[in-house]
Amino acid sequence: MDALIQLSYFVAAALFILGLKRMSSPVTARGGIVWAGAGMVVATLITFLWPDMHNYGLMTLAIAIGGGLAWYTGKKVAMTDMPQMIAIYNGMGGGAAAAIAAVELLKGDFANGTFQTLAVAGALIGSVAFSGSAIAFAKLQGIMKKSLIYGNQQLINLLVFGGAIIFGLILIGSDVPGGFAIFMFFALALAFGVMMTLPIGGADMPVVISLYNALTGLAVAFEGFVLGNAAMIIAGTVVGSAGTLLTQLMAKAMNRPLSNVLFSGFGAAGGEAIESVEGTMKEVGAMDAASMMAYANKVIIIPGYGMAVAQAQHKIWEFVQLLEDKGVEVKFAIHPVAGRMPGHMNVLLAEAGVPYDKIYDLDEINNEFAQADVALVIGANDVVNPVARTDPNSPIYGMPILNADYAHNVICVKRGKGAGFSGIENQLFFLDNTRMLYGDGQEVAGKLITEVKQL
Ligand code: NAP
Repeated sequence: MDALIQLSYFVAAALFILGLKRMSSPVTARGGIVWAGAGMVVATLITFLWPDMHNYGLMTLAIAIGGGLAWYTGKKVAMTDMPQMIAIYNGMGGGAAAAIAAVELLKGDFANGTFQTLAVAGALIGSVAFSGSAIAFAKLQGIMKKSLIYGNQQLINLLVFGGAIIFGLILIGSDVPGGFAIFMFFALALAFGVMMTLPIGGADMPVVISLYNALTGLAVAFEGFVLGNAAMIIAGTVVGSAGTLLTQLMAKAMNRPLSNVLFSGFGAAGGEAIESVEGTMKEVGAMDAASMMAYANKVIIIPGYGMAVAQAQHKIWEFVQLLEDKGVEVKFAIHPVAGRMPGHMNVLLAEAGVPYDKIYDLDEINNEFAQADVALVIGANDVVNPVARTDPNSPIYGMPILNADYAHNVICVKRGKGAGFSGIENQLFFLDNTRMLYGDGQEVAGKLITEVKQL
């Protein structure tokens, strides 16, 4: 039986890794999700064969409730709400790792001190990831609207973290630890997760979620060692390293060190633009905008968060096909942090049927803007703000941006004067070669289709 269990874990781990590999390309990504999901089914079902596992009723009930809820919410969730859904599922992983550690600590029969230390370390990391992810969820869902910032916050957080470490050391040092020490350890670790996340602005939540994702992976891997469960060790390590890379990618794309994301309270203000820029915004109607693009040689489209909110991707793709029928070369330019999570725009465009060879990353396309007749910015803001290049005092200074302003003409679609997620004004909207096309993204795309058909 043991050989069968280990073999199943080997198969599950191979499926996780192959699934992740397939997720690296949009062409194979859907298949990758299915492979990794199959790995998870194998790993879950084989648990029933473990010796000393008798609570089949409870296990089945737990799988039915968890699986049912995940199926329902997965089907129902809007694309724009995906980051908070990832936050909550991630947090569950950390919580599950911490719960395993709690049971093992209460039993207290560790083979040696190393396993005990791993159990405590996994419990600490898992608890922080669990409660921190819950706060990240609440912020993104709009349940918690303000960031809590007060005096000596970092010092108080450090004291709470130090307290959790001290109780953790007590747990490691005792053979059968008392309930009080276990309670205090978990209470302080959970409180630290909450307190660390409260001051971080909503704009940085995706980075924080990715960081907690990495921590959850690490916690699961540690508890995998404690339980002697190879699938948990491998899956946890894979999640931990993938999460770490994703966190680094986002921080790099925003040109901000992780310490700045975690401790600066950046974006806590949100809402209206907080800077003013010289010049005026010039409006354009759908008819003029449509003819500018229909008679262009080359158009580059830059989608952003607003396109996701408006669910405008299908209409935009229809519009692009009409332009192509008129002989216009059209490309999509995607910034690595456009939208609210990496790959957000790619997924939406793929869903609308845009072929992958029309979608370009920042590095691939940034040199082409100077030859473009029109850059059409739809619901994007921060990722095309030229102050990132020019103003060292700007909070987004140094962030690589798409060079929309280098195009001969720029058309920006947005509803009004709303700021981007960083809360600052966008110099692009005030340039001589920029025209504002006001309205909801989907509505405007619909008008552009009507107009271009009449040309
Ligand atoms: P953005 O800066 O958040 O701007 C979105 C714009 O869309 C707003 O200016 C808004 O203006 C407009 N908008 C909203 N609803 C709309 C609708 N229904 N129709 C048309 N326009 C609409 O978006 P972004 O350029 O994609 O930049 C992403 C931001 O998120 C960056 O600051 C980035 O650092 C941050 N971020 C992203 C990630 C990631 O992984 N993707 C991670 C961390 C942080 P109006 O209100 O006037 O319409």
